Amino acid sequence: MIRKLLRRVFRRDAPSRHAPATIPHARHGIDRALVAVGARRVCETLQGAGFKGYIVGGAVRDLIAGIEPKDFDIATDATPDQVRALFRRSRIIGRRFQIVHVMMGSETLEVSTFRAAHDENTLKDEHGRVLRDNIWGTMEEDAARRDFTVNALYYDPVTETVFDYHRGVDDLKQKTMRMIGEPKSRYREDPVRMLRAVRLSAKLGLTLDPAVRAPIKEMAALMENVPPARLFDEMLKLLFSGCAVECVKRLRHEGLHHGLLPLLDVILDQPLGEKFVMLALASTDARVRADKPTSPGFLFATLLWHEVLANWAERKAAQELPVPALFAAMDEVLDQQAEKLAITRRIAGDIKDIWLLQPRFEKRSGKSPLRMIEQPRFRAAYDFLLLRAESGEVPQELADWWTKFQDEDHAGREAMLLPDTTKKKRRSRSRGRKAAEAAAPEAAD
Ligand code: ATP
Ligand code: MG
Repeated sequence: MIRKLLRRVFRRDAPSRHAPATIPHARHGIDRALVAVGARRVCETLQGAGFKGYIVGGAVRDLIAGIEPKDFDIATDATPDQVRALFRRSRIIGRRFQIVHVMMGSETLEVSTFRAAHDENTLKDEHGRVLRDNIWGTMEEDAARRDFTVNALYYDPVTETVFDYHRGVDDLKQKTMRMIGEPKSRYREDPVRMLRAVRLSAKLGLTLDPAVRAPIKEMAALMENVPPARLFDEMLKLLFSGCAVECVKRLRHEGLHHGLLPLLDVILDQPLGEKFVMLALASTDARVRADKPTSPGFLFATLLWHEVLANWAERKAAQELPVPALFAAMDEVLDQQAEKLAITRRIAGDIKDIWLLQPRFEKRSGKSPLRMIEQPRFRAAYDFLLLRAESGEVPQELADWWTKFQDEDHAGREAMLLPDTTKKKRRSRSRGRKAAEAAAPEAAD
């Protein structure tokens, strides 16, 4: 009883009405060279006009961890109009809660006015999810509404001081991910925080505090109420974080993979599917880490491929013609995903292009390979084929053939073509077709 009372009184995460810890450079060790010049200039300008202006959130966390931040967010006590007036190249965006985009050279900085924490007047849905969050507040309140202690740090690049209301620097140094406030209610307010806990802890190599971890399994179902577009955004962040393999492992460990990508769990339960998906994620991780371009279409195509294969096989077994059956299988698999994930039309188009080209790798005779290699999506489809071979779905020899075929000049390619075994059967028809192809070689396939 007394212990409970003491815990209440001294609860580290209770809204503190006191000044933050000010942490000097000697303790946080941020390398100023990693701070974007534009972010520093925005803070200097805000402070020069008498406002607060600090780098906040993920960027500070990453800087302390020695990781180069992806982007820099700035928090201030200036209102959006006041911010707008200070920077010529800036614009106010958002309707409910306005923020300001400030352009500095090629950088765009997001400047947000401190927000108040939620209270009993905050609009929520029937599960407790916060629907609207639009009241300005103090810096202390702004810190309290953030999710994890390591995400609630403010860095002043002018004095090189970090302001810390929730002992985030200690948690970061001790490699612990701790929630600000009571984890269950914070998850209820926004179930996406469960995904963020997994993603950010994987990225930073942090351990989830038991209180952060424990409720996830029982609360995972709340994810169903998250709007699909938000979930999709979050999945993209996770899959392109450069540590997707680790994230997916942790998601499974926490029982969170069910229902995120519907069927992802099913896919991961099929040995061949699992190997393929993990290879695809590892290859995406390697590209992200090497700063090479990546495409959501390619990755989603890999995640869903074994579903398409299974669906397609069923249709062929039911005597559907192979090509229409493939089209139908693709549509059905994508439709199932659409219920949960807002895959945009453009991404869906990319996915289908990659899938549709796969059966054409089997054709290694006639003109087909020569036309195939000219396809705009050939490269992506070929990379996809390499993963299929690596996972054991198709013979490695097929992938090697296509690798060599690309390296050859035109004569070399012609020499590689396999004899057309269907020729005899179609001789009479193919003569006419050959003549047509000679006239228009790029047409028909
Ligand atoms: P990343 O490295 O992926 O950008 P991040 O923590 O910076 O990670 P952002 O989405 O850029 O993620 O969010 C910026 C900051 O806003 C976070 O550090 C955190 O302080 C706050 N924040 C973001 N999402 C939430 C949330 N769902 N609940 C509370 N605070 C959040
Ligand atoms: Mg960020």
